[in-house]
Amino acid sequence: MTKLLDGKIVRDKIAEKLRSQISRLKPKPRLVIIQVGDLAESNTYIRQKILFGEKIGVIVNHLKFDEKINQENLITQISKLNTDSTVSGIIVQMPIPARLDKDEIIDAIDPKKDVDGLTSTNLKLLWENRSGGFIPATTKGILELLDFYKIPASGKKVIIVGRSFLVGKPTALAFLNRDATVTICHRETKNLKLETRNADILIVAVGKPNLITKDYVNKNQIVIDVGINVIDNTKQETGNKKPETEPVNRKIVGDVDFDSVSKIVKAISPVPGGVGPLTVASLFENLLEAFQNQS
Ligand code: NAD
Repeated sequence: MTKLLDGKIVRDKIAEKLRSQISRLKPKPRLVIIQVGDLAESNTYIRQKILFGEKIGVIVNHLKFDEKINQENLITQISKLNTDSTVSGIIVQMPIPARLDKDEIIDAIDPKKDVDGLTSTNLKLLWENRSGGFIPATTKGILELLDFYKIPASGKKVIIVGRSFLVGKPTALAFLNRDATVTICHRETKNLKLETRNADILIVAVGKPNLITKDYVNKNQIVIDVGINVIDNTKQETGNKKPETEPVNRKIVGDVDFDSVSKIVKAISPVPGGVGPLTVASLFENLLEAFQNQS
């Protein structure tokens, strides 16, 4: 029988633990979310973070800037937050307009407050497998899902489809650090099926509904679906990078054809309800850690 790797159960356990720890703290940890522009999907992701923050009792401030804000202004705002001792964590909601230098903006965040784990300093710590940094929230969420279901990675063949700076690459490093044998596949990979079928643990973070069908998997596999796509329920149109909520007439699906693949593999995470809830929870675990480090 295929095991369902339910992220909501794990998220709720983490939320309860965080809530109890935070109830004893004074002042409360404070997260500042910076948004540039008004992308609908970013608004929804931010709302989810604010709701989770409220649930566990931390302060979440949402700073929304006009999409025309210039690089210098944005960096000045981040610098102010860096020196504000009441701010424990800062994140910049991605994506930001392409005309801004994303790397410079992320690196303007004090690594001690970089609870998304995306500054060069924190990524280097992950690269070198050193402690003391923050692991990007989605990567941390994937690890926590596997840990909860007692699925070890050491010595396993982990195939990651997708090589983004946000998910694919940091996830590959994290599994390498756990002694897995890691392969990263991407849009230029020849014969993707051949690669994915070889995995003990298959992680898919692409943004293409139904990319992974039953021909891409084997019966002994653990499949982690990171993709979040909105499809039109009637026309089966596809989209990418949409929030993990279900608007009217639309359906959220991952990158894996859940119906066919779940009949074959050993375990699978659903979308919605798999990695998504854990990404939010992991961000707030990082926030609490940042708060404690700064206290
Ligand atoms: P991205 O667009 O930055 O990267 C996509 C990657 O997929 C690229 O590396 C590209 O080479 C690869 N790719 C594209 N087409 C491919 C193909 N046909 N075969 C193999 N590889 C292909 O996207 P991202 O930011 O990494 O996000 C990926 C997906 O994960 C999206 O659906 C996004 O919404 C979702 N996501 C989910 C969470 C979560 O918490 N669950 C968090 C972040 C992103």
